[in-house]
Amino acid sequence: MKKTQWEHLRRNHFATLVEQDAVVIIPVASIEQHGEHLPINTDANNCHAVATRAAESIDRFPVLVLPVVWPGYSPHHMVHPGTITLKFDTFLHVLTEIAVCVHTHGFRKILFLNGHGGNSAIISSLRLKLTAEHEISVVGYTYWDLPGVAAEWRSICETDKGFAGHAAEVETSLQLYLQPDLVDMKEARWVPGVYGDPTYATRDKGERLLNAAVSGLIETINDLHSGVLDKRLEWGIEVPIE
Ligand SMILES: [Zn+2]
Repeated sequence: MKKTQWEHLRRNHFATLVEQDAVVIIPVASIEQHGEHLPINTDANNCHAVATRAAESIDRFPVLVLPVVWPGYSPHHMVHPGTITLKFDTFLHVLTEIAVCVHTHGFRKILFLNGHGGNSAIISSLRLKLTAEHEISVVGYTYWDLPGVAAEWRSICETDKGFAGHAAEVETSLQLYLQPDLVDMKEARWVPGVYGDPTYATRDKGERLLNAAVSGLIETINDLHSGVLDKRLEWGIEVPIE
C-alpha cells in the first residue's frame, strides 16, 4: 500500500516525492471540549480522516499528509476542561514555520486543511502572509468550505445547514462514523459549549458527510496540482506604470 503519512517515510523517500511534485497537506485542528458526548480530539480526528482518505484516493501523483497540528486557537473553549490552546501569535508562528520547513525540503504544492472554526480566519490569511513574507505559495481551506461540501451537507443534515456546528449534528455524525467507541450518545444534548443539536446525528450521515468533504478535497488537490487553483486565486499585484 502506498504511503501517505509524512511521519511514516524515511529520509531517502523524500527526493523522489519532490521530483514527482507531491502535494503536501498540513492538517490543522484543535484539542478542545466538544460537549459531554464527544472526545476532545474530534476536530483533529475529523480533519485527519478527510486528508488521509483524499490522499489515498489520488493515484496520478503522490499526496502526503503531515501529522495533525493538534493545538489550535481555542481561547473561547478554555472555560471547559480539556481544552489546550495556543496564543494567537504562537499559533501563527507554528503554522508559518511548519510551511517553511516543508518548502525548504523542496515541496511546492502545500495545502493547509483546517478542522476547527476558531482557526478559519487564520488559515485563510496564511496564503497572503506566506507569499508576502516568505515567498512561499500555499492554499488554506476549512474542510466544510471545500467545493460542493456546503450544498451536499445541507441536503444531508436536518439542523446543521451546510457547516459544522460545534459538537452538533455534523461533528457528532462524523465521530459516530470514525470513532464510535469514543462517543456517548446518552450524553448528547444542547449544553453550554455545544452549538447546535447533536441528537440528530447518525453514523450513516457521518459517512455521507465525510465522503462529501473527501470529494471536495480531491477536487481541490487536483486543481492545486494542475496549477488551475493558483490561477483562480491570483490577486492583482499593482505594478508601477512606466
Ligand atoms: Zn469541532
